Amino acid sequence: MHQYNSFSLFNVPSLQHWQLLFQHHLSPLQPVCHPLLKRHGLTLQIKRDDLLHASISGNKWRKLKYVLRQALSDKAAGVLSFGGAWSNHLHALAAAGHLLGLPTIGIVRGEPEYAGNPTLSDAQGWGMKLEFIDRQGYRRRHDPDFLAGLANRYPGFYFIPEGGSCALALPGVAELWQELPPCDELILPVASGGTLAGLLSARPAGTRVTGYAVLKGKGWLADTVSGLHPPAAGDPGWQLRLDHHGGGYARCNNMDRQAISALSEALAVPLEPIYSGKALLGLFRDIEAGHYAPGSRLIFLHTGGLQGARSYTSSKRSGQEK
Ligand SMILES: *Cc1c(COP(=O)(O)O)cnc(C)c1O
Repeated sequence: MHQYNSFSLFNVPSLQHWQLLFQHHLSPLQPVCHPLLKRHGLTLQIKRDDLLHASISGNKWRKLKYVLRQALSDKAAGVLSFGGAWSNHLHALAAAGHLLGLPTIGIVRGEPEYAGNPTLSDAQGWGMKLEFIDRQGYRRRHDPDFLAGLANRYPGFYFIPEGGSCALALPGVAELWQELPPCDELILPVASGGTLAGLLSARPAGTRVTGYAVLKGKGWLADTVSGLHPPAAGDPGWQLRLDHHGGGYARCNNMDRQAISALSEALAVPLEPIYSGKALLGLFRDIEAGHYAPGSRLIFLHTGGLQGARSYTSSKRSGQEK
């Protein structure tokens, strides 16, 4: 993850650097075999966005693409965003900022001692300045007074919401469809809903999109997706699976963790238990329950996130909430 640390070619922000970073990247589409798929008459391919870029995790690369172009064309002094101590979003933003020559600031939920974990060590190595705030303070991240205070301290900085989910995140995600063959179902993990909203903004007729919530989403998650992409509210071509969160964000019991490892080995795809593994396990449980019609061509979007699992143990992360 440190391969760009001494790479100082890109030190003046410019749109040319943006083009180098965000053009000509393609991720592979991997067909996989599993007895369960055969038994249910399904085909499954995995879109390996975990391989899209060496240091910018899958869906975050797509979500940040046009947000960062905007920050550059606005000549922002830098970019500021929010996340937890293992945040793939902050990690991706730090890497991108480094490659673009854009200063970055991460407002991190948690104690300063988290600064030594692999995610935040990478981020600081890429020059991200970290500020730690406690849970209570972090709840104010959408509060106008709190944001005004930050804007005062960091004048000219471009603010990106937690997870990078904002209107400008959608077009980068929508481009994914151009890299996919026709399919009946596109399946993905969902947290803040931006990736799902982006996919719905360009959904081809005849392809259904199914999101597996990796946190306790219930009603508000669908509203969040529709908030980001209003036509989603009346679009029957998508669904959220809300019962596969395994107890909540970043929670995963031993049995599920073993099941995810077994799945990873059987499919020859690296998985982590927070997003890709949890969603794929949900998918396989739904397949077993007959939820997907025989003959369906499924594509699972591997959204990346493997960096966040480097220090994953149940004791370290099980207390985390979204
Ligand atoms: C952030 C993230 C997601 C969730 O994407 P949203 O757009 O927030 O729903 C899924 N997978 C991985 C690996 C992520 O890092």
